Amino acid sequence: MNISDIGEFGLIDRIDAVLGEPANSDLLMGIGDDAAVYRVDEQKAHVVTTDGLIEGVHFDLSFMPMEHLGAKSLTVNISDIVAMNARPRYATVMLGVPGYVSVEMIEDFYRGAKKVCDAYGVTILGGDTTGARQLTISVTVIGEAEPEKVVYRRGAQPGDLLCVTGDLGSAYAGLRVLLRQRVELQEQGESYQPNIAAYRHVINRNLTPTARLGFITGLAEAKILPHAMIDISDGLASEANHLARKGGCSVTLHEAKLPIHPQTANVARELDESPTHFALNGGEDYELLFALAPEDAPKLDPGKATVIGSFEEAGDVAEVTLIREDGSPELLVASGWDHFGGGEAG
Ligand SMILES: [Mg+2]
Repeated sequence: MNISDIGEFGLIDRIDAVLGEPANSDLLMGIGDDAAVYRVDEQKAHVVTTDGLIEGVHFDLSFMPMEHLGAKSLTVNISDIVAMNARPRYATVMLGVPGYVSVEMIEDFYRGAKKVCDAYGVTILGGDTTGARQLTISVTVIGEAEPEKVVYRRGAQPGDLLCVTGDLGSAYAGLRVLLRQRVELQEQGESYQPNIAAYRHVINRNLTPTARLGFITGLAEAKILPHAMIDISDGLASEANHLARKGGCSVTLHEAKLPIHPQTANVARELDESPTHFALNGGEDYELLFALAPEDAPKLDPGKATVIGSFEEAGDVAEVTLIREDGSPELLVASGWDHFGGGEAG
């Protein structure tokens, strides 16, 4: 069977079936969330995530400087730890390096990784370096939390509000700008001057994403514990479906409430595409999407997060419905990235 026949989620189900039920009672969460969780003692749980980035699939060295790549490789993993409401602490890094990557490029990669680790209080413990046909990166990050403060994808309740940090679709808008600029560079040659200023926000969001550690620290200070949480790597439509299915609730989202940066809207319009499509399916935003008890909403800093929808009792299946600006409803299926080139979601 080809992996593209069943997609990434189908493949995860098959792996889950091979591994079977874990026999370890300290395991609080295995496969099926942003990170795995196990209990260390009454006060402490460890949260562990691994993510791979492959040249040609996740990044393109022609417009991804190695320092940014090192930073991004750590950030995307730290974001998964933060999405469990945990504090990232340690990391390991595996690099598969092809011949065309120089020592200096590897040093730049680690400079970027170190910068991010310093910013989030993470220590790189070590790792491995090996030969490979294309640049291959695998990062593991370990975090810590109190066991009862860990927030999972499951747990949303009817009546909860659906909230999101920051803005949506900008990393994808940045990718589209970078791709367009590469074509313009090929056409115009050395004299080409890319317009960076008009696209600074979206380019930065693509090349140097941020994990929302500061936001969950703020939640703890405000004594807010979300009922469910996920970080947006594949796109809002995909992640909202995860929260709906895992929580057994349906979700209603409002197009008019989606936080979209003016630069993102501009890029979408320049390309004759819809800003809403960017926000729903663009992916790589690394914002936090979470279910919040309505009584906690007034404690939320309105500059840091936006209420974009709500959870309600599910019918036969938990669904996500988008209410368009004209009031018409539309069923949202997950259609984020699919790195295996088939199926619906990735
Ligand atoms: Mg995630």
